Amino acid sequence: MKTLRSYVNGGWYQATADFVPLLDPCSEELVAQVSSTGLDFGGALEYARERGGPALREMTVAERGDLLMAISKKLQEHRDELIALSLTNAGATRKDAKFDIDGGIFTLAHYGHMGRDLGTRRSFLDGEGIQLGRTARFWGQHVLLPLTGVAVHINAFNFPVWGWAEKAACAWLAGMPTITKPATSTAMVTERAVEIVIESGLLPDGAASLICGSTGDLLDRLGAQDVLAFTGSAATALQLRGKPNLLESSTRVNIEADSLNAAVLGPDVSSDSEVWSVFLRDVEREMTQKTGQKCTAVRRILVPQEKLDAVQEALVERLGQVVVGNPADGSVNMGPLATARQLKDTIEGVAKLGGEAQCVLGDGRRVDGVGNPAGKGYFFAPTLLRATDPDTAKVLHECEVFGPVATLMPYDGSAAHAASLVGKGGGSLVTSLYSDDREFVSDYLARGGTTSGRLYLGSEKVAGQLPGSGVAMPQLLHGGPGRAGGGMELGGERGVGLYLQRVAVTGDRGMIEQIAESSSRTE
Ligand code: NAP
Repeated sequence: MKTLRSYVNGGWYQATADFVPLLDPCSEELVAQVSSTGLDFGGALEYARERGGPALREMTVAERGDLLMAISKKLQEHRDELIALSLTNAGATRKDAKFDIDGGIFTLAHYGHMGRDLGTRRSFLDGEGIQLGRTARFWGQHVLLPLTGVAVHINAFNFPVWGWAEKAACAWLAGMPTITKPATSTAMVTERAVEIVIESGLLPDGAASLICGSTGDLLDRLGAQDVLAFTGSAATALQLRGKPNLLESSTRVNIEADSLNAAVLGPDVSSDSEVWSVFLRDVEREMTQKTGQKCTAVRRILVPQEKLDAVQEALVERLGQVVVGNPADGSVNMGPLATARQLKDTIEGVAKLGGEAQCVLGDGRRVDGVGNPAGKGYFFAPTLLRATDPDTAKVLHECEVFGPVATLMPYDGSAAHAASLVGKGGGSLVTSLYSDDREFVSDYLARGGTTSGRLYLGSEKVAGQLPGSGVAMPQLLHGGPGRAGGGMELGGERGVGLYLQRVAVTGDRGMIEQIAESSSRTE
């Protein structure tokens, strides 16, 4: 059994008490223990601020880009090891583990390329200079400078590698050191990924720290030059964003929280069309990938009333073929839920949805897994419900069941009704719309566009290229309004912006152009 360590103050720290056990979600056997008791959180922050920050800021953006490329390559060398660890720690199938690990490797490389393209600068200019006075002598220029504190990253259990890498890539490229706290239940995978990077010696001292276990008083010590980027449930987000020191110092806090994402079938889509097939394929994937433990998973399926029976029949058939069990068995294509708590929450969640919808597939109970001893493991089969009256429903739009669970909802086929139902979710990460009717799509965008961070359009012309609505790409923003946290990550250079302070510099044009040039270019 492994004892996970933290990496702070330039060295590994292993606690000796207060361990939380980590269990293999298939066998329920103890695989690791985690604790951060006794860790010097204040020292960890100071070390990162005083060593990591200056070292990263000394590098040009292109050099930081090279660094990200090298880290991505290093992780690639250990890809198989990380995939195997995901199976033991999270019960992920090989496909699901690759989604997380390859996603992290790809995102680091993406930001690496971007850094290289931005060139030999240490900070960033924001837009063109502006004449402010009677003559062009009195001048203004916005400059973006890296914050001089630490970026603290708190991640959810479902993406132990991608969640760490996508946040770290942006912070390191901006020139900020990071302290990452993975979710305890899947910290084994993150710990090993960070260890690989630390052992490679690629990063400057203090640029990357890791806390496995509780954050102690770390967050209470954050100030104006620090950043807190959190991914997890809305309930935890609410607790963290209200911390007095964060409010007092106006510390930047970015929240990626939960979301009841909707897939909407347009009224024009017939059952013999390619868009219909893509819709079914996407919904099935977005319900079952990572056993539905994805913030971008589909939770609500909106279908025009007259097509509801046909969609239900097709989905029940597809989902009924999913083989749930131990990913070590070759026939299995959906693994267990990650922890006993996730299983309990999912069972309770389906019972809650049951007050406003009926199960048409699955009965809301634990199942045995293929290739696994009976009675062991946190297995839960794909579960589809059907709502009777989504307009008056409350729980269906508010309760995120973090498992392979979604609810079919009829709507009247108008963009207005679809937008109204999607909006009841209070803000989503992504909404997918399947239609070739441009008027319907445009009407939806005007009425419901602002309730989601991303709108994924499935139509005939792109049917062969669609990756699935759950894929967050580094080129595009990831985040959503309202309940989804109001956060914004990724989006190319936009993701780096979280770690930069915009300064409006005004004065003599000659001086400004010279200092802006020297701070932004070194050659
Ligand atoms: P969670 O229970 O809210 O935990 C998230 C993270 O916060 C974990 O690292 C957890 O650590 C930490 N945490 C909890 N309480 C804390 C506190 N008082 N101080 C400091 N850290 C604290 O969420 P989860 O169960 O891991 O993840 C599932 C949720 O995340 C779902 O609701 C999902 O929708 C959401 N999610 C959102 C996104 C997105 O991008 N929007 C992505 C993935 C997941 P411990 O594990 O040690 O408790």
